[in-house]
Amino acid sequence: MFERILIANRGEIACRIVRTARRMGVSTVAVFSDADAGALHVEMADEAVHIGAPPPAESYLCAARIIEAALETGAQAIHPGYGFLSENPDFVEKAEQAGLTFIGPSADAIRAMGLKDAAKRVMEQAGVPVVPGWHGDNQDPEHLAAAAAAIGWPVLIKAVAGGGGKGMRLVDGPDAFAGALEGARREARGAFGNDAVLVEKYIEKPRHIEVQIFGDGTRAVHLFERDCSLQRRHQKVIEEAPAPGMTDEMRTAMGQAAVRAAEAIGYRGAGTVEFIVDASEGLRPDRFWFMEMNTRLQVEHPVTEAVTGIDLVEWQLRVAAGEPLPATQDDISLSGHAFEARLYAEDVSAGFLPATGRLDHLVFPQEARIDTGVRAGDEISPWYDPMIAKITTCGPTRDIALSRLRRALAHTEVAGTTTNLDFLATLTRQPDFGCGDVDTGLIARRIDTLARLPAPPPFVPFLAALGAAGLAGASAAGQGAAWSEGFALWQPLEREVRLEGGGEEITARITVIAPGRYRVKIGTAESGISTVPGGYAIDGCRVAARVVRHGGRASVFAGHGWHFDLPDPLARAQEAGEGSENGIRAPMPGLVQAVFAAPGQAVSAGDRLAVLEAMKMAHELVAPRDCMVTGVFVRPGQQVEAGALLIGFGTDDDETGSGAAE
Ligand code: ADP
Ligand code: ADP
Ligand code: MG
Repeated sequence: MFERILIANRGEIACRIVRTARRMGVSTVAVFSDADAGALHVEMADEAVHIGAPPPAESYLCAARIIEAALETGAQAIHPGYGFLSENPDFVEKAEQAGLTFIGPSADAIRAMGLKDAAKRVMEQAGVPVVPGWHGDNQDPEHLAAAAAAIGWPVLIKAVAGGGGKGMRLVDGPDAFAGALEGARREARGAFGNDAVLVEKYIEKPRHIEVQIFGDGTRAVHLFERDCSLQRRHQKVIEEAPAPGMTDEMRTAMGQAAVRAAEAIGYRGAGTVEFIVDASEGLRPDRFWFMEMNTRLQVEHPVTEAVTGIDLVEWQLRVAAGEPLPATQDDISLSGHAFEARLYAEDVSAGFLPATGRLDHLVFPQEARIDTGVRAGDEISPWYDPMIAKITTCGPTRDIALSRLRRALAHTEVAGTTTNLDFLATLTRQPDFGCGDVDTGLIARRIDTLARLPAPPPFVPFLAALGAAGLAGASAAGQGAAWSEGFALWQPLEREVRLEGGGEEITARITVIAPGRYRVKIGTAESGISTVPGGYAIDGCRVAARVVRHGGRASVFAGHGWHFDLPDPLARAQEAGEGSENGIRAPMPGLVQAVFAAPGQAVSAGDRLAVLEAMKMAHELVAPRDCMVTGVFVRPGQQVEAGALLIGFGTDDDETGSGAAE
């Protein structure tokens, strides 16, 4: 076995590889770009080497720099993860020339499968059924259009170098062909530098079922199938193993075809043979066709690990180190059912637009397998894939595994960036998916329902108001106590907060009755709320919820997450001062640095009355109008909570303002 390996990747897959390597006693070297200097994969690995600037072309795709890093640190092998250099045969050759082992297939095997047209040719020769269609060197548009007509509409145009759903166009009939071809070519040229395409029959009601294979360079075994039919824009969203409705006959046929495919190219390591299945009449052994082979570890490999009990990264390391296949086909068995959901920073309602931002709050459930490369406080940068985590659950049956996935999603909390979490949660409740009736068009057909946010239960704005006031959250007890303690000096224990959520502006009035006990009034509705372990009692009813205040926002997590914006507290204090408020309140929790006012002093609008240090900055609190100071309620050095009344005043002609210094 290797003593040290370099992981030429980042994010969750790099972290996942470190975990297995460590268990096997193999030490790890991470690589990182400027954008990832503080990343989790860097922290987890035994060593880390800086390889360049944030753009992948200047770091994670720099073959020479990565090989140099491996040699410098004494690594014997390179694990490429997925994406980046994982399917780059030139990189494999360069690494091998430098005396390093590439943990993956040979350069030749990658080349054989790298282009979809060449791969289909190899598979045809190996007797593997391929999707009916046309592939060849003649790329003349008229020739391609004629080929499409001969295949029969609808057809799919695919970039031969394609990946990640790019360079693909569905064409319904002859009129749309030329335009679609043009679009596919343009996209393929941009993404892959190769605009050659092939034309395939578009399979109706298609299911994407793929087979995990593993080879030692001569022999191969399969580790059963995964169903990846839940897709948006040809990209996987939720995957499962085994495929719902799979029969023994079909499983055997697909497994054998996949093993034939792997052995035909002398495949070594982990790979996936992707098939498209016509499920219009159920799963039938004569209705599946080879689509492509991915010559690497796949994103969704955890579901296979869950149902076979095999650690695929361990197998990768062992086979790369020269060991024979760790098991024969008969040793590998399938048990139970597993799901994986891909949690992304993305805006579902904006067509799954990738999002960026800081993960102010991030909590994962204990009961699921979580593959992640980020922690709370980390940034989802625009440079890389915006995946936050993969959430994998399993169970003895599909129903149990799916309920566990629903539960796991309900207990996942993310705030600070837009995510697809609600979409995933809604998807797990979709009835067709629930009964295993999936196909690749399901999400697109149901997108209107799936993208709709569930309406928040009525208690949500009330809890959000507590969050906005800084009265809830991880340190609820502490904060609540401090707030009301401080406030006991300046009755009444009442303050107003404003928040914006779901397109509405909410003004809430909060009264503190005792630490952890509040009355919250929004409009004419009023609720009594108290904190209880694991949640809140609202008018006597217990709800499991967590409320978090982060930056300029408050979030309520109760099955789903609801997020509210808080208008700038300083602006609000200023505004309030201009209104009828008889005093200046602390716009946020802070330390009083200085007070420049005394009772009985006449002040003019704009005069500096106090300085509050909060969030590492000094904030000047100024007189909102010409008035008379009637009370000063704080001393320099005193810690105050948000909303605390600091200075009281009346108008010039109001000499009888309330309040007196304690
Ligand atoms: P999988 O079935 O594992 O999702 P994909 O081919 O969709 O396979 O992609 C897996 C990973 O490989 C992606 O998450 C991405 O990091 C990388 N990848 C694949 N194709 C592309 C591409 N065209 N552009 C950018 N990244 C890609
Ligand atoms: P990529 O390299 O981008 O992963 P694939 O060839 O694997 O490209 O296709 C991606 C997805 O497109 C599949 O998972 C499937 O949903 C859909 N697809 C591909 N080929 C067909 C086809 N012939 N008929 C119907 N859908 C297809
Ligand atoms: Mg694919």
